[in-house]
Formats: sequence, structure tokens, C-alpha cells
Amino acid sequence: MAKEELECSFCGRKKPETNLLIAGLDAHICDRCIEQAHGIVVEESKEEDTKDLSAELMLKKPQKINSFLDQYIIGQEYTKKVMSVAVYNHYKRLLQPPTNDDIEIQKSNIIMVGQTGTGKTLMAKTIAKMLNVPLAIVDATVLTEAGYVGEDVESILTRLLQAADYNLDKAQKGIVFIDEIDKIARKSDNPSITRDVSGEGVQQALLKLLEGTVVNVPPKGGRKHPDQKFIEVDTENILFIAGGAFDGIERVISKRLNMQAVGYSASIKEDVVDHNNLLQYIIPKDLKDFGLIPEIIGRLPVLTYMDPLDGKTLRAILTEPKNAIIKQYKKLFEMDEIELSLTDGALDFIVDKAIEYKLGARGLRSLCEEILTDAMFELPGSNTKKLNVTKAYAEQKLSKTTIKKLKAVS
Ligand code: ADP
Repeated sequence: MAKEELECSFCGRKKPETNLLIAGLDAHICDRCIEQAHGIVVEESKEEDTKDLSAELMLKKPQKINSFLDQYIIGQEYTKKVMSVAVYNHYKRLLQPPTNDDIEIQKSNIIMVGQTGTGKTLMAKTIAKMLNVPLAIVDATVLTEAGYVGEDVESILTRLLQAADYNLDKAQKGIVFIDEIDKIARKSDNPSITRDVSGEGVQQALLKLLEGTVVNVPPKGGRKHPDQKFIEVDTENILFIAGGAFDGIERVISKRLNMQAVGYSASIKEDVVDHNNLLQYIIPKDLKDFGLIPEIIGRLPVLTYMDPLDGKTLRAILTEPKNAIIKQYKKLFEMDEIELSLTDGALDFIVDKAIEYKLGARGLRSLCEEILTDAMFELPGSNTKKLNVTKAYAEQKLSKTTIKKLKAVS
């Protein structure tokens, strides 16, 4: 090709009509086309930014989500499975292209019932970590109706905004974990005429958030007042996970199971009921009988339960998760070039004490702390480079009074 015939392969401009013509292998591109192409790249990557979460999520099928949870959470197989599906469906719903078939996928907000310390918060934290979305953990007990002493329900969204560094788009796709949801249950089944500050009114206020609505949120929290600037937060795509111990709900379940057992519709025969873990039979009606209003239950359609932690599970929690307690202590000692090890006897001893004093999983950490404090104080800077914690060592460090002290704070 003669030199004067060179032209841009994209727009066809001849070389003299351009400021610059760059040659590739078999083609040329002019400065204007480069500018234009650059513009397209920038636009596309902007769109990618907002799309990335959903695209990433679609790659994480429920089973993948489950195996991610497995790395951090021991046991709780049923909840892990239910969570994996619920989270997957939630983000599928976000991705749903507008259709005209009138089928609108509803939100899959979740409610987890289980004793304290069984891993409910950990479950929510792990999901948020995996999705890389902001997470706000709020305690339902501090929530009150507007006008009462305490926090407005909107404060939940202030927390979420803060967790998202005030990136509204991110916050609107975040996760809110509402702990102790059982504490706002109506105390008796008879709705009283007088309003209860922390009960039904709060449940009513929560309803709208759970369902999806646009809320004026004071960005810095605190009470709403007229001169404050608000951020409008749409809760439509926020995933709400509620958790609670629902102390005494076993009685409700047991009563229902007994009634079923004598009725014609007996679905679970009394002789196969596992009385050590009645929560596994929970149904939404039990939550209603406990005092949650039906509307709230309806907006938390995914109901799941946590198994109580037995010795085997507690033992695994000590050493197996990715950031297991013992791994953390080993790392701490490693920083001082000290090699920490614990014998099986010592680990079993810690678990036994956690069970004996009903300290649960949370107690494991406090027990380890008590056992290792002296070593963490004395060994750094000393000549000792190895510490092997045996049962006898652990026993010696853990007197009865220290355990009693732990029990008091847990
Ligand atoms: P909950 O929210 O149910 O009261 P948490 O999630 O706060 O309980 O758990 C308390 C502690 O116990 C956490 O530090 C967590 O690491 C540990 N833990 C509880 N259950 C499990 C579990 N199933 N697997 C791993 N760690 C657990």
C-alpha cells in the first residue's frame, strides 16, 4: 500500500485528515477513534463497577456459598444450606431484568432462631465477608418507636451507611443483621390496648424497612430534627437477617408437637421427636405464638434454626475454622518467635470446662485467655521459644474462682 493511501481502519479518515495515525499489525487507528474508544472503555468500566457485585455473585452458586461458610462455621449444616440458597436467590432477584410477566420475586429476608453463642452473628458476618458487602449489626433491644427514649428504627440504616463509608449504592445492597429480634416480641398473646414502647410498635416500624421502602436517614445518626440533612435510602435490595434466642420457644414447639401427635394429622410421631433439639421442628406459627406479629413473620420468609453446640462441635470450633481461636493464639506467639502447641488433653479440658460451666462457644476464648495470659506476659523477650500447654498446665492456670468469674461475665 502506498504511504499516502494510509487511512484509519475504524472511521476511514485518510492520514492527512488526522493528527495522528497509529499502525497496528494489519490496521491503523486515528487519534479521534482512540479518544472515542477510550470514552467507551471508561463508560463500560463504570457500569462494570455497579454490575460487578451481581456478576461476581452469579458465579457463586449455592454450593459454593456453602463451602465458603464451611471454612468459618462448624456444624449448623441446615442453616448453612438454607442461607446459601436464600442469599443466592436474593442476589438473583437483584439481577432480574425487568419483565412483563407479573412474576415479582420477593425478598428472601431470613430469621435465625438459636441460643446465644451458636454462631448467628458469625453466619451474617461470614456472608457479608464473602459477598464483600457492607454489614450493619444492630441490637433490636435498643430500638424504640419514634418519640420514645432509645434509637429510631432508621438508625439501623445510619449504621449501614457508616459501614459502607457513605457509599449509598453499596449500602443499598448491604446486609443488616438484627440481633435479639425476640426481645421485641409482644409479651403476651393478648394485644394490649396500651402501647408497649419496645414491642409491637417497633415491629410495625421495622415492617416497612424489611419490605422495601425509601427512608430518610440522618447520616450521622441521632434523633431526626428539622434542620438535619437526610440521605434517602431505599431498602428494597437490602438483605435483612434477624436472629434471636427465643428463650422458651421450645415449650411452644413441644406443645404443638404433642397436640399434633394426638391429632389425626400427626406428621411427626412423638417417639421420633428429638427432645434435645426441639428447635429443628420450628415453624412460623411458633414465632407468632411467641409474640412476633404475623406481618413481621411474613417479611422474614426464610426461617432457620441453630443446633445447640455439643462437645465435638466446641472442640472443632477451637481448632478448625480458618480463623480458629487456637490458630489466632499460635500467630500471636509466633510474632515473638515462640512456638505454641496444646495437647489433645488440654484442648479437651478447655471444652469440658466450657460445657461444665455452660460458657458456650464464647467461653472458649475467655478460657484460653485465662490459661495463656501468664505465658503471654512472661515469655516475650525471654529465652523460652516453645510452650506446650498440657492438661496439667491448663488446670493449674484455671482455678475455680477464675472460671466463676468467666461465668459471671459471659
Ligand atoms: P450468636 O450470634 O448466636 O450469639 P456468635 O456468632 O456471636 O453467636 O458466636 C459467638 C462466638 O462463638 C463467635 O466468636 C464465634 O466465632 C464462635 N462460634 C459460635 N458458633 C460457631 C460455629 N458454629 N462455628 C465456629 N465458631 C462459632
